[in-house]
Amino acid sequence: MTKDWKTRTTLVHEGSRRSQYGEMAEAIFLTQGFAYPDAETAEARFIKAGEDEFIYARYGNPTTRMFEDRIAALEGTEDAFATASGMAAVSGALTALLRAGDHVVSARALFGSCLYILEEVLTRFGVKVTFVDGADLDQWRAAVTPGTKAVFFESMSNPGLELVDIRGVAEIAHAAGALVIVDNVFATPIFSRAVEQGADVIVYSTTKHIDGQGRALGGVVCGTRDYIRKVLEPYMKHTGGSMSPFTAWLMLNGMVTLDLRCRAMAESALKIATALEGHPKLSRVIYPGLTSHPQHDLAKAQLGAGGTLVTFDIAAGKEAAFRFMNALTIAKISNNLGDAKTIATHPDTTTHQRLPQEQKDALGISKGLIRLSVGLEDAGDLVADLMQALDAA
Ligand SMILES: *Cc1c(COP(=O)(O)O)cnc(C)c1O
Repeated sequence: MTKDWKTRTTLVHEGSRRSQYGEMAEAIFLTQGFAYPDAETAEARFIKAGEDEFIYARYGNPTTRMFEDRIAALEGTEDAFATASGMAAVSGALTALLRAGDHVVSARALFGSCLYILEEVLTRFGVKVTFVDGADLDQWRAAVTPGTKAVFFESMSNPGLELVDIRGVAEIAHAAGALVIVDNVFATPIFSRAVEQGADVIVYSTTKHIDGQGRALGGVVCGTRDYIRKVLEPYMKHTGGSMSPFTAWLMLNGMVTLDLRCRAMAESALKIATALEGHPKLSRVIYPGLTSHPQHDLAKAQLGAGGTLVTFDIAAGKEAAFRFMNALTIAKISNNLGDAKTIATHPDTTTHQRLPQEQKDALGISKGLIRLSVGLEDAGDLVADLMQALDAA
């Protein structure tokens, strides 16, 4: 779409389609199939379906299409394909593109299931994968060769909140003819303008900030029309990872407030990180919006903000971290993120439990590390809750 709408207008209106009733709220088309007026129309649609012509919900659905159009407009890509979960998006984006013998370079600090796709699934089918330290451009330069088909990374890592310089990596990848595939979940589509910085394919778990209320699994892949319709769609529609219309309707509604929510969360996250920094029970506070973050300048240039997560290390280790978590009265102990409810996670014993110790050490996952996904509660209430829980630790 070439309207010059700003983000908030796009988030409220883009992609909406109205039936003959002129309904205000987007309708949920809970239908798997579509009746054709005659056999000739059915035949024509199977040859080539037009923009608003549908065949089967695994291929596309009017509600799902509204969501795809809205997120593509937000992201600034030509097209998007909605998937059943974030992992259907990540695995589809890679598997649809790659074949035996291809080479991929990936950042090492990955969400556990993403690591499984790259380390276990792709290699099983003969794809060669090289892992690098995502923040080190020299390692990308050394690993990417003229035969590299794609590079993959999370633009902000979990739980260390380390940034990858998208522009820097894209320059290296494009010089070798490789596609840049970015998992942009932690950085959010509001703060990370990945396409402007050179990303070709952007993947989201919409389970996180886009839904924003922890209600449903979902995912989406954004890219050029050629990539989405010629590479990804045939793979997704035949392997079955499409988003349900009900989920698409939840995500459409979530997007209406995405900009407001992400900005409010980031504002609170900065207040929390500032209040926590220097606390005697903490050995470090990691937040890209703090000047103490080693990539603070890159965060300012690439995100314009520090994001919605804060990670900190309780110096006394696991028992103290557990006492801290058990003393929280507002923040919940869970493992989602981007939710309206503030969530505290202990990566060492939950999300990253299965990693070998040397990998945990390399990612900075210590026994006292807590990842906080900052929600929409009053920032003062959250700071007070965290401080009394630290007293109890
Ligand atoms: C949650 C998450 C995923 C997977 O998304 P699901 O919706 O849970 O399948 C992938 N990447 C990142 C960075 C995530 O945070």
